[in-house]
Amino acid sequence: MNQQIVSHSILEINHYNRVLEGNKRYVAKKMAEDPSYFKTLSKGQNPKYLLIGCSDSRAPPNELTETDPGEIFIHRNIANLVIPTDLNLNCVIQYAVEHLHIHNIVVMGHTCCGGVKAAMTQDSVGGLLDLWLNQIKLVYEKHAELIESFADENDKITCLSQLNVRAQVMNIWKNPIIQKAWQKGNPVMVHGWLFRVETGYIEELLIDQHTPEEMCKVYALKFKLESEKQLSKHVSPTGSPKNNAKKRFQNMQRKLIEHINQLKENKIEDFDLETKEIGGFIESSKDL
Ligand SMILES: [Zn+2]
Repeated sequence: MNQQIVSHSILEINHYNRVLEGNKRYVAKKMAEDPSYFKTLSKGQNPKYLLIGCSDSRAPPNELTETDPGEIFIHRNIANLVIPTDLNLNCVIQYAVEHLHIHNIVVMGHTCCGGVKAAMTQDSVGGLLDLWLNQIKLVYEKHAELIESFADENDKITCLSQLNVRAQVMNIWKNPIIQKAWQKGNPVMVHGWLFRVETGYIEELLIDQHTPEEMCKVYALKFKLESEKQLSKHVSPTGSPKNNAKKRFQNMQRKLIEHINQLKENKIEDFDLETKEIGGFIESSKDL
């Protein structure tokens, strides 16, 4: 082994050790603040959000949103993609929606995204990566004229990053797990964010959301829900599937209004905080 490799290895081991030392300091700091912090954390999680973000090391969701462990259920991949057949992501979505009963899903893209930048070039980055980036190229191809209208290279990347977030939000709406949740009366909301690495701020993107209730028929699925199977055994012949869908939507709407009123009446002191936390949820409910 030559001297250069030895020096390099020592340097890398020092970097590695620094991370573990950081963990010891983290534990000490938390324990000083609250000696039962980790014991409480070990009892379970009750996250209110699912965040699908980019693996980029500059976009850590908890740090950016000043949230603690246990508050956000997180999935990250290169360029925050929602690929319909991604087994890993679909398991995360299903667990978040059906078991953790999460109502708010966020897709967070960011500026200066290497994945987005690479998808805009014709240079190959390797087999699997090229395949992955093809999903961004689909968005690029669709909006090439708009993206190319920007003179600055970074503006082009930011524009495609935004459009990519929108495309992935749409992919979540089309996801059967989300559609089924809506039909069961769980009003899952999907939000699009762009984290601006250069300022630290998160920008909430206004997305013309086609919720599962108004989705194109090409994607809209009809599920035979357990409750309907039970109902069909007892209900009168006048109960049509259309009426059932309407009732479910009305119930969903009622639950949302009740939830917001409860926040206003019973948690006046916490309301400002809650409003910030679930701002998108309330904002979206206005459209119902
Ligand atoms: Zn990225």
